[in-house]
Amino acid sequence: TKKLKSDIEIAQESALQPILEVAREIGLGDEDLEMYGKYKGKVSFEAIHNLNKLNDGKLILVTSINPTPAGEGKSTVTVGLGDALNRLDKKAMIAMREPSLGPVMGMKGGATGGGYAQVLPMDEINLHFTGDIHSITTANNALAAIIDNHIHQGNELNIDPRRIVWKRALDMNDRALRNVVIGLGGPMQGVPREDGFDITVASEIMAVLCLSKNLDELKKRLGKMVVAYDVNKMPVTVKDLQVEGALTLLLKDALKPNLVQTIEHTPALIHGGPFANIAHGCNSVIATRTALKLADYVVTESGFGADLGAEKFLNIKTRAAGISPDAVVLVATIRALKMHGGQSKEELKSENLEALNRGLSNLKKHMETLDEFNVSYVVAINRFISDTESEIEALNTWCEKEGVPVSLTDVWAEGGIGGLDLAQKVLTVIENNDKEFTPLYSLTDSLQNKIEFIAGKVYGAGEVDFSVKAKKQLEEFEKNGWGNLPVCMAKTQYSLSDDPRRLGRPEDFTITIRELKPKIGAGFIVALTGEVMTMPGLPKQPAALKMDVDENGKATGLF
Ligand code: ADP
Repeated sequence: TKKLKSDIEIAQESALQPILEVAREIGLGDEDLEMYGKYKGKVSFEAIHNLNKLNDGKLILVTSINPTPAGEGKSTVTVGLGDALNRLDKKAMIAMREPSLGPVMGMKGGATGGGYAQVLPMDEINLHFTGDIHSITTANNALAAIIDNHIHQGNELNIDPRRIVWKRALDMNDRALRNVVIGLGGPMQGVPREDGFDITVASEIMAVLCLSKNLDELKKRLGKMVVAYDVNKMPVTVKDLQVEGALTLLLKDALKPNLVQTIEHTPALIHGGPFANIAHGCNSVIATRTALKLADYVVTESGFGADLGAEKFLNIKTRAAGISPDAVVLVATIRALKMHGGQSKEELKSENLEALNRGLSNLKKHMETLDEFNVSYVVAINRFISDTESEIEALNTWCEKEGVPVSLTDVWAEGGIGGLDLAQKVLTVIENNDKEFTPLYSLTDSLQNKIEFIAGKVYGAGEVDFSVKAKKQLEEFEKNGWGNLPVCMAKTQYSLSDDPRRLGRPEDFTITIRELKPKIGAGFIVALTGEVMTMPGLPKQPAALKMDVDENGKATGLF
């Protein structure tokens, strides 16, 4: 039966339309696309510029409850909802993130949706795609080379080699590179110092690219990035090193959004992929804005749960892009809710109404968070084969009692058809929407207040504890004139608290802020709670072990 096919098998059986045809349907001419083969194209800057005079369509943000190993299916629902809207004869588009090769080779799970709700060509998007992430890696490492060369050549800026914060990057899970020593071998090989690698999608350049509206803004933001401190502890920026022009040049094509299609030929812009823990976790501003010009309805997603991805979308991306959502879809699965209610992963297949009921506290918290932002939403139950009728009914009844629209969604098994009810409900919410979206804090609030607002209103924390280091940094950062930036929280995705083991809806907990990191180019201050991984490792059984390619270049084992 079709349900047992793997994502890649379904993808490979699907017939693609030439991307030029998909583009024509949303009003783009052949000259507007720069082709990367027959099925991928980048929208040219000229085309984007010409779209400026058009009105914006409606924006639908997909988010979810706190993820569990059971999987939520946000990307799958995003793709399926776009397809469903198109089936209802709406001009709809999707805007999503680009997958990183680290998770692709590491833990099973790409970022192109699943089942019959996928974007294509799935293997290419999950591998090198149009080279955007490679360009970002190159720009990142060019800057690293410039810094070390500057020191080697006399260090005119008096950079303190012990206070270089710029790291090298690689788009792979490679724990052996987390901490390295460079410049060994004597005076001709540079100045020895400790360094480290981040995964490219955790780099500031990825965030900068995703938050820039055009090349000019990209260059300005790159110039502001703080790379090190000098011997007087003053920040040294890319502008001081005079390489913002070169870095922008390396990124000029990467900034153009990539047009692809879903299995049902719904146009999708897949562009930019910052991590949602250390960075803001949503696709590029330029892709979302372009989609809003081209379509009447744009479905987009933000990473992890509403406490991380949606909070950052709503507090950071909306401001950078000048956009606001017209509706939000809050994805939940019965499996994940049961895990939040205490059921173990091994027992998820058996019915358990008590665990489900307890786990609803997690969903409820995220609903309250969306209320804090004053946005209207629909709960989407992403249906798994193992869900029982009584469990579905219990969840439906609970949502009805709460007065929130809920839709049983089966886009994984059915494609767009399985999302028609969700699409109808989203359209109704948009039509009747009389709420005015409000970010949670004002930029003029102090950094400390912003952090306390998020911890209190979004996580439900009782208290925020700042380490001695963090307190000192708060003072320094306000003095440096960075106090007006939004805050980008770095927290575990698994729990509302900063302890990944506390599922459901933890109460009376304290959030500990260990350290702050200035990302002045990206335009936010990262607040680190607990240990946050910026270079993941591979698991014991990496997904790579199952991958292969035949003599015609056909991929196998890619999910
Ligand atoms: P997220 O965006 O929340 O990380 P994805 O949409 O990427 O989740 O889905 C993760 C994995 O779960 C994919 O491999 C997908 O095929 C699978 N999946 C999603 N929804 C379902 C479903 N309803 N039934 C079975 N598998 C699903």
